[in-house]
Amino acid sequence: MICKELAYMLADYFNGSMDARLREELDDHLSRCEPCAAFTKTYQAVADRTHSLRRHIEYEIPPEVSKRLEAFIHAAALKYPEKVREYRDQVERDRREKVADLVRAATAGKLSSATALLVESHCAACPECGGYLAALRETGTTQAGDPPEGIRSHLIALMQTLPPGEEFFLA
Ligand SMILES: [Zn+2]
Ligand SMILES: [Zn+2]
Repeated sequence: MICKELAYMLADYFNGSMDARLREELDDHLSRCEPCAAFTKTYQAVADRTHSLRRHIEYEIPPEVSKRLEAFIHAAALKYPEKVREYRDQVERDRREKVADLVRAATAGKLSSATALLVESHCAACPECGGYLAALRETGTTQAGDPPEGIRSHLIALMQTLPPGEEFFLA
């Protein structure tokens, strides 16, 4: 459920930009938790420190580790709510931008073929999303702002079914 928050947190941990207090907490957790320690050790060895780190890591956190780190995040959120909220906010911003990109690309007919197929079949079954995109196409709106919450959550779920690293629109 908070896979992305975990990915953001770990990326910060690996590239050294994590808040010092949170880092101390995480180091402490890792010193006592075998699966998390093993994962971070392996991952750190192979991680390239580029901007794509966050996206890659999201798909590579083993379920066992993700469960344990989620528990860690919940505990950390009680102690440092503002630090953990920063990750949530980043994820939220990231999602908003992605949905806006997706809607723009869908309206302009610039979706990659795999994504277009996914969107079309969803819209065929979902009058809400179908109607929303059809209306945008009809009016030629390219700056639509945030779609209504229901549609937004459908589009987020849709994007999460794309394979890791899949570019969903054409340049
Ligand atoms: Zn752990
Ligand atoms: Zn829908």
